[in-house]
Amino acid sequence: MIKLEDVETYYGKAQILKKISLEVKEGEIVTLIGANGAGKTTTLKAISGLIHPASGRIEFQGQRIDRLSPPKIVALGISHVPEGRRVFPDMTVLENLEMGAFSLGDDRPRIKANLERVYQLFPILAERKTQLAGTLSGGEQQMLAIGRGLMSDPKVFLLDEPSLGLAPMLVDKIFEIIQQINHEGRTILLVEQNAYLALRIADRAYVMETGRIVLEGEAAALLDNEYVKKAYLGK
Ligand code: ATP
Repeated sequence: MIKLEDVETYYGKAQILKKISLEVKEGEIVTLIGANGAGKTTTLKAISGLIHPASGRIEFQGQRIDRLSPPKIVALGISHVPEGRRVFPDMTVLENLEMGAFSLGDDRPRIKANLERVYQLFPILAERKTQLAGTLSGGEQQMLAIGRGLMSDPKVFLLDEPSLGLAPMLVDKIFEIIQQINHEGRTILLVEQNAYLALRIADRAYVMETGRIVLEGEAAALLDNEYVKKAYLGK
């Protein structure tokens, strides 16, 4: 579904991604793990069109997308939930969700159906639909950010650090929901600090260090890999 080939990106003169190649197949959960600053967020931003690679290519279902704008990429079926639950604090829960459906224009029946699905997944958002997003708890804001991402009915879901700053019980809940979203038929690329949790739910994984992929494989095998255990699982 998603294919990156030798992707290189820069912020000014600083090279961040160094010939990144990776693939996410239809129906998979693939996780990208690595230390702070390794380039995981940058990889997601390159896929969703927030930054354009200096070289290399990015394809979605065989179509080259690395020169398209973010709205065009959303319209093709890729949704990005950024790190840090960037909800619009002064808008209500419902308004935030509606913003996530901008790529659907005024296709009200489809927007309504997507909203119903999001409310099913997160009943708390239905209960709080008139509440200002800025007054939600951290966990609720993360659910809202994920819900908003689902409002465009994406084929591919890019999730950046969904567990960041959440209490363990909420983290478990968010991971359950990620699996549920995947069972609905959505392909997932998950960036996570919590390598253990991510590898537990993923099919395959890539390990990134200073802008490069240093290791890749089946998630179950990486959970058992001596290097991964030492560097990322604290064992
Ligand atoms: P984290 O988990 O800390 O978010 P990451 O693996 O997602 O780490 P990135 O956010 O992709 O890492 O950052 C990769 C590198 O790019 C870092 O060294 C970071 O300082 C740098 N960087 C990120 N955004 C910018 C920017 N807008 N301008 C300049 N440098 C940036």
